[in-house]
Amino acid sequence: MAKYQSVNPYTNETFASYDNPTASQIEDAINLADALYHKWRHETPESRAEILHQVADGFRQNEEEMAKIMTLEMGKMINESKGEVELCASICDYYADHGPQMLKPQPIESNLGNAYYLKQATGVIMACEPWNFPLYQVIRVFAPNFIVGNPILLKHAHNVPGSAALTAKIIKQAGAPEGSLINLYPSYDQLDQIIADPRIQGVALTGSERGGASVAENAGKNLKKSTMELGGNDAFIVLDDADPLVLKKALSSARTYNDGQVCTSSKRIIVVKSRYDEVLHELKNAFSVLKAGDPLDTSTTLPPMNSTRSRDKLSKQVDEAIDAGAKVFYEYPEINSDGAFFRPIILTDVDKNNPAYDQEFFGPVAIVYEVEDEDEAIALANDSSYGLGSSVISADVKHAQEVAAQIETGMTVINGTWISSGELPFGGIKKSGYGRELSDLGMMAFVNEHLVIDMPTE
Ligand code: NAP
Repeated sequence: MAKYQSVNPYTNETFASYDNPTASQIEDAINLADALYHKWRHETPESRAEILHQVADGFRQNEEEMAKIMTLEMGKMINESKGEVELCASICDYYADHGPQMLKPQPIESNLGNAYYLKQATGVIMACEPWNFPLYQVIRVFAPNFIVGNPILLKHAHNVPGSAALTAKIIKQAGAPEGSLINLYPSYDQLDQIIADPRIQGVALTGSERGGASVAENAGKNLKKSTMELGGNDAFIVLDDADPLVLKKALSSARTYNDGQVCTSSKRIIVVKSRYDEVLHELKNAFSVLKAGDPLDTSTTLPPMNSTRSRDKLSKQVDEAIDAGAKVFYEYPEINSDGAFFRPIILTDVDKNNPAYDQEFFGPVAIVYEVEDEDEAIALANDSSYGLGSSVISADVKHAQEVAAQIETGMTVINGTWISSGELPFGGIKKSGYGRELSDLGMMAFVNEHLVIDMPTE
């Protein structure tokens, strides 16, 4: 894509368009960011911590405006948008409070001399981000790298350019130096050229497998370090002893939070046979009570998807799944609107030959699998190209931890669904990508672990 436009998915009205930068604008941006990197090399992480707290406050003070533009551009329900702004402020506070300590030199035990490694900035990082959490995806990269001392160039998704601009503005107004985060609207070709520039030292992408493969290829060709946070087909495993209330609560949002457009949304609901009918019943209840409407209206519980393009892609996937034998257990009634609404649907009987078996459905589609027992549940969970998140629902937490350890995935939530916080590492394995964001692990993504050893002189 990379044709930057703000289109309200509730009305399909285009309300803003943005041009690609000129070559000299790109050169100026890289120069500015690179100059800041060199300046920051003479300053400490502690000196930036207070500014990052101010950035957190800036987001809290501008919560209404930030939340509104996100909702207008990609249809997220306004209260979820506000929650996202608060989460991002808390991530900034987290790195302001803990980041400098994480960057202290690490002593190394060695018989060869006094050894330690420094944790140093490496330079300007190119961040390519998706639309589904317009602020959170950016802050996951910006906040830790701000403390490290790596300035960020941002290429946001083509459909959230206004959110990108406001994010950069709030960061600047809060007191971050010019160049800390520079928002650009590059074409794919321009992005390739930026990545190839010797002043760019890393590439962080969150997005699809397709976009990730393309950008990772370019990063690899130019020997740039990269992190890839890609799609998922998360298993939500329901065991025999699942607490009915916990199960009901988890199911109520498992496939509808952010209208199901979450990388770690529970896309494969895997249920032992003793609980299968109950799960279908609870999911149907959760879907049928949704109220479709304007995402700016706080009484709405079913917003449009982010775009008609995504809606149409999802509809096509569902049609293909049904053609290949999937059964429709429930489908939400017709929605009389020109918006990008998708009617939530529950599918069953997806077998291994169905294309849906190993695809990501990025919207409110629940695919429910019945299995004999726990072993079959684990085997099915692992029979996937993806390995991002997962859930295990069981009253026996110790046992659920044992099950979690057997799942090939980057994250498991026991008795719950999607969760994120500054201190919790986020990321996956297999085609869900590599590297981690957030926590101390995410902090180290673009750090130079610089060994220093002083040898005995006698
Ligand atoms: P996407 O198409 O891959 O886009 C992500 C970003 O990459 C956008 O800025 C996009 O720009 C850019 N991009 C895509 N293809 C590119 C190419 N060939 N060259 C250069 N840049 C390219 O992803 P999406 O469909 O918008 O986002 C949804 C996906 O993100 C889902 O698969 C979801 O699971 C995943 N996701 C993963 C995580 C995680 O943490 N693992 C979190 C959230 C979402 P344009 O918009 O201009 O195309």
